[in-house]
Amino acid sequence: MKIYERILRTIDGRLEKLQGVRTQYPNFYWPTKYKVVTQAFGINPQWYERFGLPGHEGIDMRAPLNSPIYAVWRGTVSRVGWHAAYGNHIRLSHTIGENIYESVYAHFERPTHWAVGMTVQRGQIIGDADSTGNSSGSHLHFSLKQFSGEKPNTFYQKAFDWPYNLIDCTMFFRELRHGYE
Ligand SMILES: [Zn+2]
Repeated sequence: MKIYERILRTIDGRLEKLQGVRTQYPNFYWPTKYKVVTQAFGINPQWYERFGLPGHEGIDMRAPLNSPIYAVWRGTVSRVGWHAAYGNHIRLSHTIGENIYESVYAHFERPTHWAVGMTVQRGQIIGDADSTGNSSGSHLHFSLKQFSGEKPNTFYQKAFDWPYNLIDCTMFFRELRHGYE
């Protein structure tokens, strides 16, 4: 681990204590090369209404054309292929503690070589970014679904009842936690 990463981690731990945020969420590996959110979870409800969603159903992250996309956690491939909205996409199934999650990575350049049932490590490259499917420019759309256990009690989770087992994954990224009180 690089020294600055170690320092950041220490600062993160102290901030979480100060802010009273308990680390009840796993620390997901940031799935793109650039730690930039281009569209947050739950926003733009007027646009997503037409898809039967209460708002943006995931997080969009900066991912220029051909840049690598990484798995957020160790898991197995649960679905791979074309989706009308997500374009070339892949989904991974994760068992974390007592919960079962599925992470969704959308708009890949080409179909990924991964196949259902294969094991993927946290941080492993799973595809290349592009803008396939319902997308207006190269980026990663990341969604998270939860299939068991207590769902995260975040602002958006309280505000909306999300369909398709979708949850707000914001708190799963250490880089995004400090925006919350
Ligand atoms: Zn999106």
